[in-house]
Formats: sequence, structure tokens, C-alpha cells
Amino acid sequence: VSPRAAVERLSPADLFIAVKSTARFHRSRLELLLETWMSRSMQQTFVFTDAEDPRLRHRLGDHLINTNCSEAHTRQALSCKMSQEYETFLRSGRKWFCHVDDDNYVNVEALLELLSHYQSSQDVYIGRPSIGRPIQATGGSGKVEFWFATGGAGFCLSRGLALRMEPWTSGGAFTDTSEMIRLPDDCTVGFIVEGLLGVGLIHSPRFHSHLETLGLLSDLGSQVTLSYGSLENGRNTVNIREPFSTRHDPTRYCTHDTQYGNVWCPTRG
Ligand code: UDP
Ligand code: MN
Repeated sequence: VSPRAAVERLSPADLFIAVKSTARFHRSRLELLLETWMSRSMQQTFVFTDAEDPRLRHRLGDHLINTNCSEAHTRQALSCKMSQEYETFLRSGRKWFCHVDDDNYVNVEALLELLSHYQSSQDVYIGRPSIGRPIQATGGSGKVEFWFATGGAGFCLSRGLALRMEPWTSGGAFTDTSEMIRLPDDCTVGFIVEGLLGVGLIHSPRFHSHLETLGLLSDLGSQVTLSYGSLENGRNTVNIREPFSTRHDPTRYCTHDTQYGNVWCPTRG
């Protein structure tokens, strides 16, 4: 697939952005996303969490999905959420599935621009690996090597590819696959796509997790995702000065968001 010319006209309604969250991050993380990028992308965004929350329900309506998955940070609880993200996407009929964490900022315009260079009916898996080499898993027919896109930087799957993944994902099969290889949800996606279906991950430098040094990033508006890490001990954030101080906007998301006309953020601090 040529990365130059746009091959498919995309509208925001073609996107399904799944945000993974958990009860204890509703206030401390989701509120910030709702004040920034999500406020302009409510129709594309679905939050997957593990507890009911009247305030979030009021904001999100049926775009809040209470998975009833366990609140534990276990492999099974996380793959339970990923599998519901995936199945809800399939039912939605949309063209692109994108997963992010609740500490990611999404530049939806940049995401649409990136995806418009690919065809949603073809096999597309795009994101950024956090380690510089493929990993190995033993499962089913012996050892396989594959790349995977870090969930914490966000990644996308085309509908065409998502449909081909169904034997290993639908009706609880995703959790079984993850248990079989004993690896987390994002690795399991890589295992199914590269290891089982033989479709290569498209490595994109526009997806970012807090495993990187975020302060080195430039041209923030053309990045697809941003992140922030460990604000307590030595912060790892994108580097922008104006207009909010790091005390009032420690993640820098509000500051970045002012370029899209946000004038009422930060409301806390
Ligand atoms: N998360 C979750 N259940 C948990 C802990 C975390 O669903 O018990 C989600 C969290 O909301 C976030 C993602 O998993 O979307 C990654 O969590 P976090 O950023 O705390 O950890 P990291 O892996 O990035 O260090
Ligand atoms: Mn994180």
C-alpha cells in the first residue's frame, strides 16, 4: 500500500476509538480527556471500563461500556476488556478500530489523515512497537515471532483485518488466545495478526506511549497519539510552554488543546 496518496475518503463517523479505563481512573484520567480531545470526538469515542458511574454515564450515554470485567490488573481482566472493545467495534459497522489507553491524547484529525492512506477493507494493523525487535510466543503450532504495537501508544485495525481475526477473538476466544500464549492483550493482537494471519504490523512513528522520552517530540499536531508518564517522580511529558503552567496542567494536554480553540481548560488545579 502506497503511503503517499489518500486511497479512501474517511469521515469521523468511520472511526471507532476505544478508550480503556478502570474505576479508579474515572476522575483522575478520564475527566481530562473529556475536557480536551474527547469533547470534540464524542461520536467516535467509546469508553470501556469496569464499573458503573452515573456522572460518566450522563456525559457519555451508551458510549460508556461497563464491561463487567474484573478491576484487577491481570492479564485476563485486560484481555476481557480488549475483547469487548473489539466485539463492540464489529457490531458498530465502522471502518476502523483504534484502541487507546486513558492516559493517551488523540489528535483525531491526524489519525483520520493517517488512515485515509489505507483501505479499510484490506488487512491493516498500524501502531508503534515499544521494543526494537519482535517477541516470541509458543502456542498452537509451535514457536512464532511477531511484532506487536504497544497498547499504551494506541493502535488501529481495519475492518477487513478485524473480520479475519474472528476465529481467535470472538465469543471469548480472545481471552483463551491470550491465556494460551500467556501474554497481555496488546501482544495477543500482534500474535493473531502477525503470528497467525501473517499480516505485518505497519510501524508508525506517530503513535506515542510514556515508554518514550516525550519531551523530545516536535510537531505535536501531526502526532496521532500523545502520552504522559509518572507525574509524581520525574515527569515525562510533551514539551510545550504556553499558556498553562506545569502546575496547572501537569500532563500538558490542556496546553496542547488550546490550539484547537479550547478556552475553558484546565478547570481543575
Ligand atoms: N487499567 C485497567 N485496569 C487496571 C489498571 C489499568 O484497565 O487494573 C487500564 C488503564 O485504565 C489504562 C491501561 O490499563 O488505560 C494502562 O494502565 P496504566 O497507564 O496505569 O499502566 P501502564 O501499563 O501504562 O504503566
Ligand atoms: Mn499508562
